[in-house]
Amino acid sequence: MDFGLKSFLTISDGRKEPAPQPLKQALKQLAKVNRNLSTKQRGSNNRRKARKNLARLHRTIANRRKDFHFKLARNLAHNYNAIAIEDLNLSGMKALWGRKVSDLGFGGFVSILEHQATKTGCSIVKIDRWFPSSKLCSSCGIINEQLSLRDREWACDCGLVHDRDLNAAINIQRAGASALGLGDVRPGSNPAIAV
Ligand SMILES: [Zn+2]
Repeated sequence: MDFGLKSFLTISDGRKEPAPQPLKQALKQLAKVNRNLSTKQRGSNNRRKARKNLARLHRTIANRRKDFHFKLARNLAHNYNAIAIEDLNLSGMKALWGRKVSDLGFGGFVSILEHQATKTGCSIVKIDRWFPSSKLCSSCGIINEQLSLRDREWACDCGLVHDRDLNAAINIQRAGASALGLGDVRPGSNPAIAV
């Protein structure tokens, strides 16, 4: 599976898991409360109140995030025998995507998933973070060097139009299967997915 901001994760079988709306709402609210706090005078009652609000909101977010992570991790560990993910480069992701990465808590999610997986016997395979999962066409194997972060879809010269996240997830799945000795990873060895 592939992690992202639009979909929290995309699985090679086509399943997409968006970050839940209550978490997104709380994150929006957080930005507002932070702005509000910055307008209050130091040492004032209003500032104290605003800080209390902020602390409460941080707790709400942490709880919602944890709840989302646990439910999803448990579900995945029960439904799949093996899961391949990219070895996340969290500092690199933060540089690219900003603080949204910490807000969504990918690193924390992976720890929870690994823990749940030990309970169900699901294998977690981490793929080298330099593996070009997004740029590689999962059908013909060509690498699209022109792909930018903004491209949600891209058309390969071989004729296929890819959903960026799904294409990456398929490539990660193949690399994971290969690492586990479960199959051939040559591009094109699985039926191509036309979008
Ligand atoms: Zn192609």
